Amino acid sequence: MNIRCNKCYWTGTDEELKSLVDDDGYFLGCPNCETDGHLMDLDDGEIIIVDTAEYPDEKGLFYQHKGDIVCLYHDKEGQLGWFKIWYDAEMNGREYITINNTILYLDTIDQL
Ligand SMILES: [Zn+2]
Repeated sequence: MNIRCNKCYWTGTDEELKSLVDDDGYFLGCPNCETDGHLMDLDDGEIIIVDTAEYPDEKGLFYQHKGDIVCLYHDKEGQLGWFKIWYDAEMNGREYITINNTILYLDTIDQL
């Protein structure tokens, strides 16, 4: 079972949750926030949107558009993950994603 913390956007499996203790006893919580108050079960196959990925050579990158997210691929590394699309208001809403805090305009890479 995959789990996401909606406070810090940590995702992992239930084995990766942290054992914590409070007045009511032991419980499992987010390893970052140390609370279970924001945990959500993810359905199998649910898309996990990431905001950072290893940035390989820009030449091999291509993407698949799906609503307001894209799946980014690299021809050697495979799937890099799903990214939220941002819109650059100063450039007529030009679409971009951010990787390692770097802007990557979608029109500079190939679409699947
Ligand atoms: Zn958290």
